[in-house]
Amino acid sequence: MMAAARDLSVHGELRYNEPMSRHTSWRAGGPAEIFFIPESVDDLSSFLANLDRETPIFWHGVGSNLLVRDGGLPGVVVSATKILRHLERVDTNLVRAGAGLPCTQLARQCIRWELGPSEFFAGIPGTVGGALAMNAGAHGGETWERVESVQTIDRSGNVHRRVPDEYKVAYRSVTGPVNEWFLEAMFRFDPDVTPSMETLKEMLERRKATQPLGLPSCGSVFRNPPGDFSARLIEAAGLKGHRIGGAEVSTKHANFIINRDAASATDIEQLIEHVRQTVEEEHGVELKHEVRIVGEVTA
Ligand SMILES: Cc1cc2nc3c(=O)[nH]c(=O)nc-3n(C[C@H](O)[C@H](O)[C@H](O)COP(=O)(O)OP(=O)(O)OC[C@H]3O[C@@H](n4cnc5c(N)ncnc54)[C@H](O)[C@@H]3O)c2cc1C
Repeated sequence: MMAAARDLSVHGELRYNEPMSRHTSWRAGGPAEIFFIPESVDDLSSFLANLDRETPIFWHGVGSNLLVRDGGLPGVVVSATKILRHLERVDTNLVRAGAGLPCTQLARQCIRWELGPSEFFAGIPGTVGGALAMNAGAHGGETWERVESVQTIDRSGNVHRRVPDEYKVAYRSVTGPVNEWFLEAMFRFDPDVTPSMETLKEMLERRKATQPLGLPSCGSVFRNPPGDFSARLIEAAGLKGHRIGGAEVSTKHANFIINRDAASATDIEQLIEHVRQTVEEEHGVELKHEVRIVGEVTA
């Protein structure tokens, strides 16, 4: 692996061979060849403009939906969560939020502003950028239902303003202009749908009761198939508690795989594949990954 750039001088931080296990909620995964933490959007923009065209770029939120294989990620991983944390109410029902802002903060501030429905964001332990990339959702709400426009940056460092019509959005899936990443979103909420901290607390309590929240995971591993629930199918296939290496199918929520005991990314990926195959054999349903699996297998 060798990332090349005409000029890698930056104001932010460049870390070489940075273990991605430090940057994923599964606490597993190989190194990023270069992990870049820009100091400003200008820094990010000039870095991208100077990067060789063939160097792979991977955008990172907080890694709450990410499995990085043990062989790591070639090229550059951009972590812009420190600089993109802005949040402002720009109009009665319009909110501008930076891609690095935690979804929980977006939810809490919108509740203070009495703008709903926004409380579903509190259940998503990722960033606004990750939520835009995944069309993350919970409790009946989905990210892109609220998007008025987004701001993106391309691999030449140019910034664009885009509208939802430029994206194909579906359940936990978003496709749009290639080699562009989110810098911020403008969300439209509704002052007539007043959310409350009480509703939010109840939602979080329900999660605590049904999900293994204290243990390293990436949330739901598989998307729900139409008309059914992956967790139900996995549980009915007798897979709760099944282990490969240090990875285990949660006994609390069957669609969660937890890092029980120093699991490698290989353990986790093998367990994901075992679950997928077993459910297909037992129920004839082909489960699709919700988690993003990236990087290289160990040589
Ligand atoms: C305990 C737990 C519970 C969860 N519950 C839910 C839930 O209820 N609903 C739900 O939808 N998800 C849930 N998740 C999954 C996860 O939190 C979401 O998918 C979240 O949106 C990922 O955000 P992130 O910042 O961690 O992104 P990452 O995991 O870092 O990245 C995910 C994908 O988004 C891309 N990405 C990140 N930032 C950007 C950007 N700025 N521009 C372009 N692409 C970007 C990455 O390249 C990657 O492909 C849960 C996870 C955990 C651990």
